[in-house]
This record gives sequence, structure tokens and C-alpha cells, in this order.
Amino acid sequence: MRHFASKSGSSFSSSSFPPSSLFFSAALVFSLIAAISVLGAIYTLSQISTEDAVAAATLKYERNIRDLTTKLNLSQRSIAVEASSIRSSLAEFALARDAGQKAIALADVAQRRSKLNSEAKSAKEISEGFKDIELTNAFSQIEVLAAALWSDDAEAARQEADETFPTGEKLLKDYDSRAAELMSGIEKANIRLATIVEIQDQYISHAAWKIDWARANAITNTQLVTFWTVVACFLGVAAVSVRITNPLVEITRALKRLTLRDLNRSFLDLESRSDEIGDLARAYNEFRDIILDHVEAQKKLSEQQALLESDQRQIALLAARFDVALSAMPLGLLMLNRDRRILVLNWKARELLEINECSSQPDRDLREMLNCSSNAGCLGFEGVDQVEKAVDQFLTLPKETSFHIKTQQERLLEFSLHAGANDGILILLEDISVRHKAETEIHQLAWFDPLTGLPNRRLMFRVIDEALAQNAGLRSPLALLYIDLDHFKEVNDTQGHSAGDELLRGAAERLRSVVRASDMVARIGGDEFVILQRDVCRMSDIETLARRIIDAFENPFEIGGQEVRVGASIGVAKPARNKSTRETLMREADTALYRAKADGRNAWRFFRPSMHAAAVARRNLEFDLRDAIRAKSLDVYFQPILRADNQEISACEALTRWRHPTRGPIPPAEFIPFAEEVGLISALGAQTLEDACRACASWPGDIRVAVNVSPSQFEKGDLIGDVEKVLADLDLSPSRLEIEITESVLIGDTERTKRSLQQLRSLGVGVALDDFGAGYSSLSYLHHFPFDRVKIDRSFLSEASGSARARSLLRGIVRLAADLGIGVVVEGVETTQHFQLVREECPSAEVQGFLFSPPVPARSLGELFCRDGRRKVA
Ligand code: C2E
Ligand code: CA
Ligand code: CA
Repeated sequence: MRHFASKSGSSFSSSSFPPSSLFFSAALVFSLIAAISVLGAIYTLSQISTEDAVAAATLKYERNIRDLTTKLNLSQRSIAVEASSIRSSLAEFALARDAGQKAIALADVAQRRSKLNSEAKSAKEISEGFKDIELTNAFSQIEVLAAALWSDDAEAARQEADETFPTGEKLLKDYDSRAAELMSGIEKANIRLATIVEIQDQYISHAAWKIDWARANAITNTQLVTFWTVVACFLGVAAVSVRITNPLVEITRALKRLTLRDLNRSFLDLESRSDEIGDLARAYNEFRDIILDHVEAQKKLSEQQALLESDQRQIALLAARFDVALSAMPLGLLMLNRDRRILVLNWKARELLEINECSSQPDRDLREMLNCSSNAGCLGFEGVDQVEKAVDQFLTLPKETSFHIKTQQERLLEFSLHAGANDGILILLEDISVRHKAETEIHQLAWFDPLTGLPNRRLMFRVIDEALAQNAGLRSPLALLYIDLDHFKEVNDTQGHSAGDELLRGAAERLRSVVRASDMVARIGGDEFVILQRDVCRMSDIETLARRIIDAFENPFEIGGQEVRVGASIGVAKPARNKSTRETLMREADTALYRAKADGRNAWRFFRPSMHAAAVARRNLEFDLRDAIRAKSLDVYFQPILRADNQEISACEALTRWRHPTRGPIPPAEFIPFAEEVGLISALGAQTLEDACRACASWPGDIRVAVNVSPSQFEKGDLIGDVEKVLADLDLSPSRLEIEITESVLIGDTERTKRSLQQLRSLGVGVALDDFGAGYSSLSYLHHFPFDRVKIDRSFLSEASGSARARSLLRGIVRLAADLGIGVVVEGVETTQHFQLVREECPSAEVQGFLFSPPVPARSLGELFCRDGRRKVA
């Protein structure tokens, strides 16, 4: 419910409306107008009626006064008459001589006197009609004076009259004085009356004036009243229209606008008024606010409704999609309610569980469905139990879980349980047989060596890390044995990679056979193996294992029908408490291994800190060699190659020399393999190639230069690029350069090597097979690759000089080479016997050896070239 509150915050309800001040003000205005009108009317009417009344009263009064005046005048006259009558009687009395006359006169007096009194009384009463005290007093005095004329002395006079006659005169005298008083009283009364009449006349004339004034006034008043009434009415109407009608019209318009939803101009600024218009305006504004709110709410509502509708459409769409997705989804989907009843089961789930549609109807019990699957030969009894158990567990404690079940046909189904709607369960089903197999394979590939099936370096490292973490802080019962097969490289180089592979498999098998189940053997590189030995209680445990490994390699391997002997060198390291990391442990074992090899191989050595120094020295040597290559401080010596028949120099072999700043000269047999090992051979070879070619460029044009190239130069460096560049830079004919390779280059028989050799040949560069007869010496190499030359290893010559068999072999090879159009160089000609032998067996060959010259610096060659002008040596 909306709180009924105005903008200003004052809330009101019908009960809180202020008293009807508008009514009061309107009533006041109209009452004022009415009062003015009524008062004006009353006043005018009263004026008119006063005028009439005054006129009537004046008339009546005038008449009355005239009546009274007449009457009073009559009475006065009567009084005067009576008084004079009494005087006459008194005079008669005074003159009378007898008592009888006197008595008659007196009786007459008495009669007259009572008449006088009544006249005086009536005069007084009439005078009262004038309501004039002075007049009334005057007549009261007349009345008294009239009474006093005779009353007091009448008896005495009568008695006197009886006794003495002459008393009448005295009486008369007295009477006259009294009558004079009376007359003066009457005179006074007359004066007063005259005054009154005069006053009355004035009064009447004033009244007449007043009537005239009133009449004139009434007309003016009527006009004024009319005017003021009109003014009041006009003001009233104006006030009403300004104060009431206009606001009402405004409110009405606003209301109309409101009904037309024109809300912008609809606010009324009349709230400050405290009357009903104010109330109306406030009520209106409240109402408008309510409407505004209402409109706003309606807007929101319609927006929400639109949203809702779009949501509903979305939901319908989603539902449709869900339906399609459900039936198309590659996963089986099963939804259960809390009572384990089926809510949804898609087609894929039915397929995976091998159940028909009817046994999976919604509202079926899970158990029923699982039994159907079991009866159909899909899930086994254990599988059914497992699913039920997992569902029950999930219902008590909803925690996402997944498990695998093998079907009766060995398919692997993955069930994953998730929380469904309304405390239900959502089960996703997937046939992971293929994936599982692939995962197993991937796992195998990721963690195991495909050749030997042993854990690979990665897995071993992980296991070492875990073992070290587990044993952190303890005296670790672990040992790491780093094993390297002795002479494996030779086997690999000479007998080929497949032989090498077979050897590795055999070695892995033997290693596996000597460890306990708790130990772990891994192949971590070419011919390198690592054993993580656990539960090492004594040092003798490690020694025992090391000895067993060495013993295991005592017997030869049989590879390709041949016996191959390889030994094992072992470096052992034990983790130090809290100190060792996998890296340090591996480094220590490697250092110990290096020592074992250096000490003659087929042995095991424990890591000692002193060995570390040797490893450091080796690392320093590497840095030194790197520096020497960078500083171009390696020298190239040249050993001449001569034609056996005329002993003329036909070529020179470039042989690299390294004079170490502290250790002195280091033989190539040491630093060349070292350079190969530490990856510096390509840089070294490129430098030698350049120096050799530069030297050759200064030699007579028919003398070649032979440059030795290591196998890894074919595999890693850009040999062809280097050759091309150096020939171009020095403008040297390619035919003057000969590349010497050993069999090991060919054993790899990689596409890359083959391509490189062909490229060299197509450049016009010669290729010689070096050290022939020292290793595997397959004749097929000569056959398969068109060498320009074959260099027969010096061991051949030293053997041939003492053995007829070796001699005939030498002869055979030379002949074969000649047949194939391949030149022959016999190396290691040290003595004249050697030379003699060569000249006898292969006169067309070339020779090289200390007999003619050791390798010499380039500057010493000139001497050789010019000796006897025929470039003959010795
Ligand atoms: P290699 O290619 O067979 O070189 C001939 C080796 O035999 C040289 O040894 C040479 O001094 C030695 N020699 C020559 N005549 C006789 C002789 O009458 N009797 C004996 N006992 N030895 C003789 P060096 O200079 O010590 O070189 C050893 C090996 O080092 C070379 O054997 C070659 O394989 C390698 N080498 C030398 N320099 C280079 C190089 O720049 N690059 C590569 N990749 N290898 C090189
Ligand atoms: Ca050589
Ligand atoms: Ca050689």
C-alpha cells in the first residue's frame, strides 16, 4: 500500500483536512454582502418608517397639542369665569344684609368653588398631557391656588356671616388677594403654555425638516446601499473567481491533463494554500504522484511483462532446444527425484543401459530400471548395487561424485552424480571405453617411455618430488641411482639404432629385475636410467642394489644374433635432511656417475662433496671453451696428405687445436667429444671450416683441404649454409673442399643427413668417409653413398703390417673402392714399412701420417709445399 504523502512530506487524510476555511471565507464574503444589503435595507426602511412615524406622530402630536391647548384654554377660561363668579358671589355676600342672602351668596360661592376646583383639577390633568413638568407644576399650583381661594375659610366665613355682617368686605379683600395669586398662576401657566406651544411649533417644524431630511437621506442611502451591494457583489464574485473558480478551473484542467496522461505539466503550485483549494491541490498532487507512481509501476510492469514474455519465449525455445539436446546429447542423462523416481531419461541413457522405452517410463523406480538393464545383460548385479548405493549416499549427503562401472560386455560406463532440481539427482552417463583406452594410452605416453615401458623422466621427477616432500625433515630412507650404459653409443653408432633400441629394452628388463616392487626404475634419456630406491635402512642396502645392477650387466646381450657387451656405470646420491631438492639430488647422482665413468666405468660411486668440485671444473671448462670459440682463439693445424706414388701433397687435413690458458694444450679426442656433449660443436666446426678454407685459398690451386665434421653438425647446425657462405666469401672452388665424416653420421640415416650429403655433393664439395675399418665398417655405406674418398683408419695399417689377413682385407677394400671410383687415403703411415706396404698393396692411394708430417700450423705449410719445388715431404 502506498503511503498517502504529499510532496512536502505532510501527509493527510480526509480526517486531517483543516476546517473549511474556504467555506468560512465564502460565507464571510457573502454574509458581509448580505449584511450590508440587509443593513442598508433595514436602515432605508427604518428611515422611511421613521419618516412616516415621525410624520404621523407629529401630526397626532400637533393635533393633540392643539386639542389640549384648546381644552386648557377653555378650562382656564372656566377657572377665570368661576373665580370671577366666586368674586361676584362674595361681593353679593359682602353686600348682603341678612343672613339669608348671605347664606345664598355663600352657597353660590361654595357651588362655584367646587366647580372651580374640578375645573382646576381637569386643567391640571389636561396639562399633564403636555408632559411638561413646568406646565404641570404651573397647573398644580393653579389647582392648589383654586382650592385655596375658599376652602379654608368657608366655614369661618359662614359663621362670621352669621354673627357679623360687615365681615364680607374682609373676605372679599382676602379673596381678591388670593384671586390675584390665582390669576398670576394662570398667567404663568399661560406663559408656559405659550412657551410650550412655541416649542411644539419649533418641534413640529424640526420634525418636518427631519422628515424631509430623512426622505432625502433614504434615497441617498438606497443608492449607496445599492452601490456598495453591487461593489460587494462584484468583489465577492472577483474574489470567488480569483480564489476559487480559477484554481478550480486549473485543478480541473490539470485533472483533465492527468486523464490524458499528460503528466509533465500536471503539477499544481497551490499547495501553500491552507484552504480547501490547497487541500484539493495537495490531494490532486498526491493523486498525481500516485498516478505517476502508478504509471511508473505500470511501465515497469509492462517492461517486466515484456521481459517475462521474452523469458517465456526463451524458456520455450530452451525447452525445445533442451528437448533436441537431450535426445541428441552424446551423454546419457538421468534425472531422479528424492524418491528415486525417474523424471527424465534420454535416449542415450537408454541405449547405454540397454533398456527399452517402457522400462524407463517416467515415474518408474530407479531399482526397477536398473534391474531391466541387468536383465538385458548390461549392468551386472554389482553394478546395480553400486549405482543404488551411490544414489542413496548422494541423497543423504549431496556431494558430486563419479564412478565407473564395467558392463557385462566389458564396456566402461562412467556415472557422474550431480545435484538436480528440488533435491533430486542428475546422473550423467558416458561410455568411456574408448576414451579410457585413449587416456590410458595418453597416460602411458605422457608418463612412460614407449621403448622400454619404464616410467619416463617426467614421472620419475614427480615421484622423486613426492618422495622428498613426504620425507622432508626425516632422515630420508631414499637413494637415487643414476645409471648410464657404458659403450652404448658405440653400439648405437656402429650397429644401428634398432640394435640400440633392442639393447635399451634388454637393459630396462635387467634393471627391472633387480629392484623391489617398492623401488622405481625409469628411463630418463638415451641410455640413462634412474632408480629410486626406497626403504633404505643401511648404506649396505644401496651397495647391494648397485652391485646387483652391475652384475646384471655382466652377461652379454644378444642383439641381432650378435653378442653385445655393455656395462653400467652408477652414480648414487642420498637426500640430505631438509636440504635436498630433486635438482640437487639428480645433480649429485650425475656427478657421482661422471666419476664412476671417469674411474673406468662399470662401477658405482657414492656422491661425495669433493666430486662436486670436478663437476664445477667441467662446467668451467665448458665456459672456457665457449670463450675460446667466441674469441676465435682455437688454432687450426694442417696435416698433409700425399700421393703414395710420387709423394706430392694433394691435400691437407684441418685439425683443430685448443691451448687452454691454464691447462695448456687439450687434445681433440678430449675437447671434440666434450664440445659435442655441451652443444658447442657447431660453432667450433663453423670456425674451423672458415679458417681451413681461408688457408686453402692461399695454397696452390690443386691442393684440397679436408675438414672433419661431427654428426651433430648435420643434425643441429646449418652446415650447408656455412659451407656455401665460406666458399662464396673466399671465392674458393668447391672442388677444393672435402668434408670428412665418420660412419656414425650415416648410422642415423636420417633424411636430413642424406639431404645434406647430397647437397654437399651437388655443390661440388667432396665427401670422404673417415676412420673406415675402425667401427662397424659396413661396405654397404660405400655402395649406397657415392663418396669421393674413403680414409682407412690407422688401426687397419698397424694390424695389416703384421697379419696377412688384414693385408688382403686392405687390398680388397682398395680394389673395391677403385672399382666404385672412390679414392683411398691410408691414415697412420708412421714408418717407412707402413709406406712400403701401402705402395705395394695400393699404389694409387694417398697417404697421411707422421712419417710425412704431423699436423702443423698453417704458416709452416708453405715450407712443405715449396720443398724441392715439388711439394714433397721428407
Ligand atoms: P682424425 O680425423 O682421424 O684425424 C687424424 C688424427 O690422427 C689426428 O689426431 C692426427 O694427429 C692423428 N695422426 C695423423 N697421423 C698419425 C700417425 O701417423 N700416427 C698416429 N698415431 N696418429 C696420427 P688429432 O689431431 O689428435 O685428432 C684426433 C681426432 O679429433 C681426429 O681424428 C678427428 O676425428 C677429431 N678432430 C680433430 N679436429 C677436428 C675438428 O676440427 N672437427 C672435428 N669434428 N673433429 C676433429
Ligand atoms: Ca679426419
Ligand atoms: Ca681419421
